[in-house]
Amino acid sequence: MAPDIPSDQSPATPATSLRPHTLAVTLGRPDKQPDAPLNTPITMAATYVAGGDVEYGRYGNPTWTALEDAIGGLEGGRCLTFSSGLAAVACVLDLVGLGGKVVAPRHAYNGTVMQLADLESRGRLVCELVDITDTDAVVAACEGAVLVWLESPTNPALEVADIATIRAAAHEAGAYVVVDNTFATPLLQRPLEDEVDIVVHSATKYLAGHSDVLMGALVTRDDELYSVLKGRRDLIGAVPGAFEAWLTLRGLRTLGLRVERSQANATELAQRLIQHPAISEVRYPGFGGIISVVLTEGAMAADLLTRKTKLWVHATSLGGVESSFERRRRWKSEPATIPDGLVRMSVGIEDVEDLWADLVKALDDLVL
Ligand SMILES: *Cc1c(COP(=O)(O)O)cnc(C)c1O
Repeated sequence: MAPDIPSDQSPATPATSLRPHTLAVTLGRPDKQPDAPLNTPITMAATYVAGGDVEYGRYGNPTWTALEDAIGGLEGGRCLTFSSGLAAVACVLDLVGLGGKVVAPRHAYNGTVMQLADLESRGRLVCELVDITDTDAVVAACEGAVLVWLESPTNPALEVADIATIRAAAHEAGAYVVVDNTFATPLLQRPLEDEVDIVVHSATKYLAGHSDVLMGALVTRDDELYSVLKGRRDLIGAVPGAFEAWLTLRGLRTLGLRVERSQANATELAQRLIQHPAISEVRYPGFGGIISVVLTEGAMAADLLTRKTKLWVHATSLGGVESSFERRRRWKSEPATIPDGLVRMSVGIEDVEDLWADLVKALDDLVL
């Protein structure tokens, strides 16, 4: 049995007229008292003196609260942080009752699709995977669903969903709507403003931004849903560490600059890459810092590219200050509908001319 713990420890985000770049810098700071630190300190605590609201380290931590206030304020709701993005995903999928129907993108983040497949194989739920760009098909699939999962843009296909239309159809069918907003970040897309019920983040990526921490987050405007999700986190215990929360908040302070620079670099590189003969296709949704390219000569050329560069790091994951890339199909679990020669590029904040020079040298070698 879960002990009877108050579920509303994190205050609702104060109404504010400040703009997102300012919010990323200002939210989650201590009150401005003489000699107060400017930054929320790391509180290392497994337990607290009895009689307060928190009591135990699994139910709350002031360092998480600061981070949750900041992410919540940016997305426009109340936030819960988790030990990883997939822990946050699992907490949401846990809302689905036995045998409930979930609609999800066939090209959603691979770990999300694997969680759904695992739950389905054990008879816990029924999952219908859809092409998220085919709005009519997604709307039709909403019939009978209890949860509609969206990811936009998708990872790594970079497909964009019509969130507002699908959200309306899903609500019509009585389903919750969730958007994984990892790729866009709240600076480029705020799904709660489209009346989506829950936003999910792998804060490991852009929010933390330095490839040194795993962190997940959920944000909702619905107080009842917040309480239910908080209750699930309390019970299951996939909570973040205080140091990780502190690092993520530190990273979040520069989110505005990092996203702006990554996006500017990605926009420039997408235009140059499509002109290179070693590349047959460039997928870039027109915003954000991720580009997927398909190599003309397929998987071998893609593997060669990821090994020939000096600046671009061959690594999975994305959203860090450094540029990294990988051929996605090197993972056995990646769906066969993702081209074999597709390389997902996470464009960092380096000088774009250095990034291009490094790439073009490796690409030129492929066509000689
Ligand atoms: C990485 C990722 C996740 C999973 O997050 P982790 O922090 O790695 O557990 C979920 N969704 C998307 C879109 C991701 O890129």
